[in-house]
Amino acid sequence: MPLPSNTLRIAVMPGDGIGTEVTAATLAVLEPLAKRHGIGLAFEELRAGAFCYRDTGTAMSEETFEKAAKADAILLGAMGWPEIRTPDGTEIAPQLDLRFRLGLYAGVRPFRALPGVPLALADPRAREIDFVILRESTEGLFFSRGRGTVTEDMAEETLRITRPTTERLARFSFGLARRRAARRGRKGTVTLVDKANVFRAFAFMRGIFAEVAAGFPDVAHGTHYVDAMALDLVRRPWAFDVLPTENMFGDILSDLGAGLVGGMGFAPSADIGDTHAVFQPAHGTAPDIAGKGIANPTATILSAAMMLDWLAERGAGQGFADAAAELEGAVDAAFADGLRTADIGGGDGTAAAAKAVARRIGAAG
Ligand code: ATP
Ligand code: MG
Repeated sequence: MPLPSNTLRIAVMPGDGIGTEVTAATLAVLEPLAKRHGIGLAFEELRAGAFCYRDTGTAMSEETFEKAAKADAILLGAMGWPEIRTPDGTEIAPQLDLRFRLGLYAGVRPFRALPGVPLALADPRAREIDFVILRESTEGLFFSRGRGTVTEDMAEETLRITRPTTERLARFSFGLARRRAARRGRKGTVTLVDKANVFRAFAFMRGIFAEVAAGFPDVAHGTHYVDAMALDLVRRPWAFDVLPTENMFGDILSDLGAGLVGGMGFAPSADIGDTHAVFQPAHGTAPDIAGKGIANPTATILSAAMMLDWLAERGAGQGFADAAAELEGAVDAAFADGLRTADIGGGDGTAAAAKAVARRIGAAG
């Protein structure tokens, strides 16, 4: 059968551990979805990660990188494995190199309470949790990765905030808040999370956000210290919308966010730059449950929905936006109807979860 004329090429990197399981489950859902919406998705599977390193001596070959960079989007499972390390003991994480090499500065991590999924907070308003952490992913404290100085008596790492990246992150934040506001029918709010009371780098960041905010009068704009935000994300997470922040703060608050909505299996993510984007679950390879067929594929399926949305925004067509919306709706419907994955104490494995979502594609239409 010929592919539809709007066919886009998706590089698929399943990676290691449960990465391969949740990726397979996601492809099993994307295939019927694409067919139903008449959108063309051509998947090219690429090998990279810890086991690739063990078998070939390189975690991601240059050829693989080139292929991934040429694709229209990259869908990734998870990479890394505790026992497989470089000779100096570093973990294998070629997905981090993708972030730096492709300039994927915006780490988009949405947190939403899905119907029926047990939540950490008893307050009924927790059902309204729907916020996005925007983790700057190329500088901040992680800029220091591999560059820190360690002597006998001292270890030092550097935090870097630059104007161009901060401006792009700010514009991305306000643009996202504006699009979410249109969708949700309420005013958007951008809250920069920082530690401007202690570090001048964050006062610098605040200044840039204030400049960019002037161009988005329709979006509310505020700031919050990261320690206070940790408190408030537990006390009233339903009050927040778009939360841009420095790399390390975003890393930490993202796990807190996942904890609020059912765990790592419910936390999708996208790493977006000006020209490329990688979509992957926020979790790792989970060696403790790998190979058992019980990993929750929801985070990866929702990451794929983000991918379809991003492709639509870049001009792939309304079919992609419709498919993204239907995919999210199908995930919601599956859980609302009783899907219970193992991580929330249920008996549904990876394949059963994918099947439950796939069955609901087209069900509403
Ligand atoms: P990384 O360093 O890559 O972030 P990690 O060591 O933080 O990895 P994860 O692999 O994210 O660890 O797993 C953390 C815990 O969450 C593990 O106990 C794992 O079993 C569980 N977990 C992660 N992802 C899922 C999933 N999709 N379904 C079920 N449980 C999961
Ligand atoms: Mg982790």
